[in-house]
Amino acid sequence: MVQIEQDILSKNNAYAHENRQLLAGQGIFALNLVSGPGSGKTTLLCKTITMLGGLPVAVIEGDQQTSQDAERIRATGAPAVQINTGKGCHLDAHMVGHAMSRLALKDDSLLMIENVGNLVCPAAFDLGEGEKVALLSVTEGEDKPAKYPLLFREASLIILTKIDLLPHLDFSVELFTQHLRRVNPSAPLLMLSARSGEGLPAWLEFLRPSLTLNQVQVAGP
Ligand code: MG
Repeated sequence: MVQIEQDILSKNNAYAHENRQLLAGQGIFALNLVSGPGSGKTTLLCKTITMLGGLPVAVIEGDQQTSQDAERIRATGAPAVQINTGKGCHLDAHMVGHAMSRLALKDDSLLMIENVGNLVCPAAFDLGEGEKVALLSVTEGEDKPAKYPLLFREASLIILTKIDLLPHLDFSVELFTQHLRRVNPSAPLLMLSARSGEGLPAWLEFLRPSLTLNQVQVAGP
């Protein structure tokens, strides 16, 4: 069993390496967004694309079934490819490589990869992305970094979503931060609400280096 897992991961890593080289060759910044289902990944992506106001962004959507998320992205005007994993609980680098070739990615663009909603499996698979982003919504509880440490340890950015709901919940940001810092002492933590727009400027700041946005005026929330 361990041997099979090692073979799968080593094949995946080879594809991830290819993806990373392709992306680097075109100057594309790729993010791998990982969270449980319903944390607001697609909503954040739609809002982000709109705020970036026509800058080149492409999206790869991963779900077990349906193309609903890709359709939501396309409605913003950005190109999107949906991957359905069937029984699979995560995207892998081979699937992502295929989707990349279908997207005809532009040089110096941004590629957002929305992984299958799951805090466990996607954490183990490198897709060739530049940054792995872990998202958690405030409705999911403060203890998730303690319960699912791999994702929160591997992530280079953590986003706490739906913070507009905080007044209605017992969620403690302080307790969440303590759990998070035990597994990941250093990754930046952004707190935002795609609905209210709070925290979105800091998120756009994080994306800015990838899009040479210093030359472009970004629309407000
Ligand atoms: Mg989604």
